[in-house]
Amino acid sequence: MGMLDGKVAFITGGARGQGRAHAVTSAREGADVVVIDIAAQMGTVPYKMADGSDLAETVAQVETLGRRALSFEVDVRSQASLDDAVTQTISTFGKIDILIANAGIWTQAPFWELSEDDWEEMMGVNLTGVWKSAKAVAPHMIERRSGSIVITSSVNGLEPGMNYAHYVTAKHGVIGLMKNIALELAPYGIRCNSINPGAIKTPMTDHQGAWDMFAGHEGGTEADMIEGGYHFHALKGTTFMPPQVIADTALYLNSDLAASVTGVTIPVDAGHLLLTG
Ligand code: NAD
Repeated sequence: MGMLDGKVAFITGGARGQGRAHAVTSAREGADVVVIDIAAQMGTVPYKMADGSDLAETVAQVETLGRRALSFEVDVRSQASLDDAVTQTISTFGKIDILIANAGIWTQAPFWELSEDDWEEMMGVNLTGVWKSAKAVAPHMIERRSGSIVITSSVNGLEPGMNYAHYVTAKHGVIGLMKNIALELAPYGIRCNSINPGAIKTPMTDHQGAWDMFAGHEGGTEADMIEGGYHFHALKGTTFMPPQVIADTALYLNSDLAASVTGVTIPVDAGHLLLTG
């Protein structure tokens, strides 16, 4: 028996990284999965974003586990595209039980050097995109009087981060949004919670640009990032964590084990906030 037997999970940013871990974990626990991803490059993002082959790979991994999968190349900034994906999912799978609003980008500059495009793309994806994703599934969940929403924030939803004020603003914002969604959906028996990942090894953080930024010079290394403290964790021996640690927390939140848990945010940061908070 799986923890999500018979459920349908709708996962944004599911082509790779944490989103793929959510998809595979949900499938392993018995859910059919809908994978949403822009699968294209955005103008302000300096590292390579996911593409169609990444999306296909997530679908293949879900199907290998014997579960059904649907994928949609959707930008979470488009309400119409999200609504259409929800409609197609309900007509194919009959329902949506779980939303994991995970899609996100990470760009860096001192706040006074951020361009309007930097700010607007960040808000559009990491804050407004979460609201639009929840808005897309809420009427269906309300009708069924059932559902679980998990939002991916960050430790930067609880603390500042040098040179990404826009990211910090969006990640704080989704915690407020999560609490309001939890409050407004509680009368219908629908839960909403969020997760604050620490440093997770995914293509978002595993690239030369991120290492250079934390090293403070070109030619930075992953070791420079560790010494720079970005993922300085209290728990002995922890540097970057695998995406699975976040997928396991979402699994708990989406399962019956968390049936009485709503409106909370859970840091999964190996104690990072103990040192900085
Ligand atoms: P990632 O870059 O590997 O995955 C993010 C996915 O979101 C990609 O597949 C990307 O194509 C997709 N995406 C981006 N913009 C989109 C849009 N407009 N519409 C649809 N899809 C879009 O990075 P990840 O580490 O797996 O990030 C997942 C989430 O975790 C993000 O919200 C991120 O901010 C958050 N997070 C990451 C870390 C970390 O250290 N990696 C730490 C804290 C929080």
